[in-house]
Amino acid sequence: MLILVTNDDGIRSPGLRALQQTLQELGTIAIMAPDRERSAVSHALTLHSPLRAERLAEREFAIEGTPTDCINLAIHGLLKQTPDLIVSGINRGANLGDDIIYSGTVAAAMEGAMMGVPAVAVSLECLEFDGDELARAAEVTAGIVRHVSRGGLPHGTFLNVNVPKGHHRGHRLTRQGRRRYPDQVVEKRDPRGRAYYWLGGGGSEFESLPGTDFDAVRQGYVSITPLHTDLTNDKSFPTLQRWGGGNFFVESL
Ligand code: MN
Repeated sequence: MLILVTNDDGIRSPGLRALQQTLQELGTIAIMAPDRERSAVSHALTLHSPLRAERLAEREFAIEGTPTDCINLAIHGLLKQTPDLIVSGINRGANLGDDIIYSGTVAAAMEGAMMGVPAVAVSLECLEFDGDELARAAEVTAGIVRHVSRGGLPHGTFLNVNVPKGHHRGHRLTRQGRRRYPDQVVEKRDPRGRAYYWLGGGGSEFESLPGTDFDAVRQGYVSITPLHTDLTNDKSFPTLQRWGGGNFFVESL
């Protein structure tokens, strides 16, 4: 089994190395990761500048691009074969609820799923961690990878895994939760008196909804959320179909 490992924290991230070390017992590892931190680049694709790839070892490349670039370059170029599985992570910090929209870690797994490769994104709740914490999260990942490699995933599905800090209490199958957005823009002044801004300074808060990824991690469970790329809101159809007394749309699904 060929396992492609990537991330958005960059090729030097200890989370990536923890995956490499643990998953090599399950198959051959290929690493294709951004040459620097690319967190929160979401699904960006580099189209207007060349992509450089530095070969660091056999089947290991640092890419001057985004996580999505890495998956494309791996599958269509540098690996010369399609991987059997993609694992993205272990991300420094959770990827829960609406935050997954911004995540490069999740985007890499999504790109894999779009190419028909089973894919898992893994994030660790804490921002500061030691080797034990990472080793535990890598073991959790290995357990999930074993299941995916045996049974595959439903078509178009990829997994967003979040591992709580400390010893976990088991696995929960979860839904994507909902973020509450506090005051996120922080305004400061530079030494010359001009204003500048920081995004994301307000911290993160989530609505406490049972069955969500956030709820599971907060209670010490490993959260596994199956995702797909279809963003259609089926529940909105009845409301929109009432436009113009039900005559606005020529055809309804
Ligand atoms: Mn990251």
